[in-house]
Amino acid sequence: MTDKEMRAACAIGWPIKQSKSPIIHGYWIERYGINGEYRLEAVPPEDFPAFITNLPAHGYVGCNVTIPHKLVALANSEPDDRARAVGAANALWIDGDRLRSTNTDVEGFVGSLDASAPGWDENLESAVVCGAGGAGRAVVFGLLERGVACVHLVNRTPSRAQALREAFGPRVHPATWEDLPRVLDGAGLIANATSLGMTGNPDVEWDLAPMRDDAVAADVVYAPLKTSLLVAAERRGFGTSDGLGMLLHQAVRGFELWFGVRPEVTTELRALVERALAKS
Ligand code: NAP
Repeated sequence: MTDKEMRAACAIGWPIKQSKSPIIHGYWIERYGINGEYRLEAVPPEDFPAFITNLPAHGYVGCNVTIPHKLVALANSEPDDRARAVGAANALWIDGDRLRSTNTDVEGFVGSLDASAPGWDENLESAVVCGAGGAGRAVVFGLLERGVACVHLVNRTPSRAQALREAFGPRVHPATWEDLPRVLDGAGLIANATSLGMTGNPDVEWDLAPMRDDAVAADVVYAPLKTSLLVAAERRGFGTSDGLGMLLHQAVRGFELWFGVRPEVTTELRALVERALAKS
């Protein structure tokens, strides 16, 4: 393929029309003057393995994968360490005759923190993560990769938190919601990686008083943008990182893999996606 040839990538899901990824990648395609396209592909589960193993025949150099395909994508591609650790693949790319995959939520979480709360990991010894589902796995892995010594992992279902300790090792400390005040004591970071606080879901009354004064808070939820955790964190004067920041930063690596340019998350892009979210 020459640089002049059109490249296309897509987001595959079932359903998929709610995806904001075309706005993000479309913005970058235009900004960097790339001869490319990013489309949505609604593919039912029974057709998904054949679709991704024949991506070039469908005209694609790569794709994002979302619900319900992330586990099947992992099993039908060559995953990197992040995808393997998180147990799900959400970005795939053609590399010669190989179909490779990664998990970009890890990079989305830490990239957003780096952008909105620079220095967040300096002297960070103890962090609290709420949620041991897909997003929780990515968040915990990202914190461990950045060298955090102790991650308290709060989850409603104890076996899921325990499974992450078994997968990631003794720096992960499973805990319950009743333990929250104790594990927040002296912690330098709190991350909500549950769906709690999302529009239409139950919420949490966060008491961040026991945390360090220079702590930071991150939420994976982006509807609403300002979750109750972020409101409580701002009241405490903490740095914050929101779910939209994670969503935008997780898109960077896929774009780079497919189109060969590492794109920038600009305030203009953020405003564009914010407007689209407000309409949906
Ligand atoms: P998931 O695998 O289904 O995990 C859901 C998590 O929320 C689990 O820890 C679950 O606890 C917890 N939870 C749900 N309802 C609860 C309740 N009533 N009480 C206590 N805990 C509850 O989902 P996921 O894929 O991790 O997604 C979680 C959130 O992250 C969603 O809001 C999703 O939109 C968001 N997300 C955002 C980004 C981004 O880029 N910003 C990326 C990925 C995901 P149990 O284990 O006990 O069920």
